[in-house]
Amino acid sequence: MVPRPGFLGSSRKYLDYLRQSGATGRPSYLILFVTSACGGSCPHCFVGSRLGGTNDLSFDELARVSATAGSLGALLISGGEPFSRSDLAEIVSMFVENNGVRVCAIPTSGQDPDAVAGITARLVRAHPELHLSVAPSIDALEPLNDRLRYPGSYRGAREAIDRLLALRAKAPQLEVVVHTVLSRHNIHQLDALMEEVAGWGVDSHSVELIRDPRSLPPLPALREAHRRVLANRARYLGSPLERVGILGSLALAQRIKERSIAGRPFRCVAGRRVVVLDADGALRPCEPLPPVGNVRDFDCDLARAYDSLGPRAPSSCEACTHVCFINASIASQPVRWLELPFAYLRHRLEEVLRDD
Ligand code: SF4
Ligand code: SF4
Repeated sequence: MVPRPGFLGSSRKYLDYLRQSGATGRPSYLILFVTSACGGSCPHCFVGSRLGGTNDLSFDELARVSATAGSLGALLISGGEPFSRSDLAEIVSMFVENNGVRVCAIPTSGQDPDAVAGITARLVRAHPELHLSVAPSIDALEPLNDRLRYPGSYRGAREAIDRLLALRAKAPQLEVVVHTVLSRHNIHQLDALMEEVAGWGVDSHSVELIRDPRSLPPLPALREAHRRVLANRARYLGSPLERVGILGSLALAQRIKERSIAGRPFRCVAGRRVVVLDADGALRPCEPLPPVGNVRDFDCDLARAYDSLGPRAPSSCEACTHVCFINASIASQPVRWLELPFAYLRHRLEEVLRDD
């Protein structure tokens, strides 16, 4: 088995993010929707109404975005199905070379395992220094997964995972993550799924809340699920330092989400530290909020569009549990870093008391 990157490798994404944060006065974390194409039909899809568009940014337009985006610490690719874009490797390479991106995450439904394997292979060959995380989605055991997502989605994601694991054997900078969307519809299978995934040899299993508040589990059930997710995450971690850092930040993010659902919104940095660019060029502070304009109106000059349109988070948003922005909020408030060891210790204490 290839050794995992260890604490420094695992934490590099956070350190790189922090290094870049605030350096330019513009966001250092870009969520880039590279396509609106997707062969899936997941009922919970939060971009469902925008899928199947015919007006996606071309490679040349994205080249102009990259040329004007300045320094970026992290790039999160989204879609649609990102790997349906045949020039995805070239797009990511462009941001690595022009914008100094050192951390890139790409989710996938696994609709086309050949494309996932081929594009990822090109990227790891071209950028051995890039911390690349590819995350196929599996929400439940096969029968329920295929009901919650679309028929055949489990098998596609499993094949993509196996192909990625084969690549990781030669490219340890590649992180293979199973991504699960947790809702009231699959929470009863969470334990069984976590056990199953633990046998596959992936680097991590991330479990995040469904975006639609109507499909959230009840808060007491969610708190219990959060506890089990933390315990499960621990089995993917090595050194004590890694456990404190990663589990502490996960525990803190979980607490912020629970508070947000209970009516205590967090201080969001959407639009300041993180910005979202849709496949058609629309610019948003975050995915749930409407666009403030379109980079095409600024000749795809992202810096000029950002400075003119000024996308910003409102002062408060009800029941938002969007993890990218919660993590960015934690990362951008140094005082919150002090909470990480305490969040970890609280989790450990709860586990010890529970065992007694
Ligand atoms: S695979 Fe992803 S983008 Fe496609 S419908 Fe499902 S959730 Fe939406
Ligand atoms: S709290 Fe949520 S909805 Fe509000 S700006 Fe932040 S990410 Fe967007």
